[in-house]
Amino acid sequence: MADENLPDLEILENPNARSAEERAALLADPGFGTVFTDHMFTMRWSEGRGWHSARVEPFGPLTLSPATAVLHYAQEIFEGLKAYHRADGEIGLFRPEANAHRFNTSAERLAMPQLPEKMFLASIREILKADGAWVPTEGESSLYLRPFMIATEQFLGVRPAKEYLYSVIASPAGAYFKTGPKPVTLWVSEEYTRAAPGGTGAAKCGGNYASSLAPQTEAIEHGCDQVVFLDAAEHKYVEELGGMNLFFVYADEKKVVTPKLSGTILPGITRDAIIQLLTEEGYDVRESDYPIDRWREDALAGRLTETFACGTAAVVTPVGTIRDRSGDFTINHAQTGDLTRRLRAKLLDIQHGRAEDPHGWTQ
Ligand code: PMP
Repeated sequence: MADENLPDLEILENPNARSAEERAALLADPGFGTVFTDHMFTMRWSEGRGWHSARVEPFGPLTLSPATAVLHYAQEIFEGLKAYHRADGEIGLFRPEANAHRFNTSAERLAMPQLPEKMFLASIREILKADGAWVPTEGESSLYLRPFMIATEQFLGVRPAKEYLYSVIASPAGAYFKTGPKPVTLWVSEEYTRAAPGGTGAAKCGGNYASSLAPQTEAIEHGCDQVVFLDAAEHKYVEELGGMNLFFVYADEKKVVTPKLSGTILPGITRDAIIQLLTEEGYDVRESDYPIDRWREDALAGRLTETFACGTAAVVTPVGTIRDRSGDFTINHAQTGDLTRRLRAKLLDIQHGRAEDPHGWTQ
């Protein structure tokens, strides 16, 4: 039945959809971000007309003029969420309305049209109706969903475009850690920053990730897994990683600190869930500035017992070692801490429908 939230919805089945055997072979070891399902969702926006031409269609190339606005001035936003195979056999989503909300916050910052939350949620439902069989059933694997919007107007002037494409594609994702969480090593970028006050740091736009690639390359060259970004003004306070938020744990004081949402940090949905879970457990959760010097001093003194990063992709990831040009320091002997392990299991259990969900986070 056509979804009343999606204007002129048409369903075009993929005549070359892969067979059950081909799908099973791809789902056996999907990795991340290289395998795509048989369909995609698309919908157009035009000035004066609003949203129109919703379609579920075969996954395939987009045809764009070389003068398409997004190719020149990067008017683009995206989201990332996962569909989980649940213990009850259903397909589950974790707080998709929070992704819908953040999508619109990003759209506002990039001067793009708002997408009504109902349309966002309906588009996710349609892609799962078409490609639900692509949700992996193994352990921690999931179907990663990537809603995005691009400026499609053919025009080379610098102003908000008058035409947009919204689309959702889906990609099966294997377990992030195959053999349990492994503490990561972070490179402190002293030269590059991710976002400045008044910039686009709180929006999920492609440009933020393009500018993170040079520091990420530097991190790899220094034997690190990821970059930790400091604030742009003073290079003194810890902000976040290229794709994850950070938490600092003081287990003896039952206290955790996470950098506050000052406009330069992406408001992570996992971050928000963790703040709620820890607050309910009686932790003193502080959202505040966190100086890198305090991080080092407290880790060396043993007061800081754990640091973990969090986000949709890896859920909760322990941080073991921090490196900059002056050397290294480690946290908890570079071992995964108890709270990190426990939170990770708790969130995964809620997401996969193995634990109660008193917050109504899953659908
Ligand atoms: N920070 C950045 C820069 C990110 O790209 C992400 C991933 N969306 C996060 C934090 C974590 O956000 P979430 O928990 O919503 O995945």
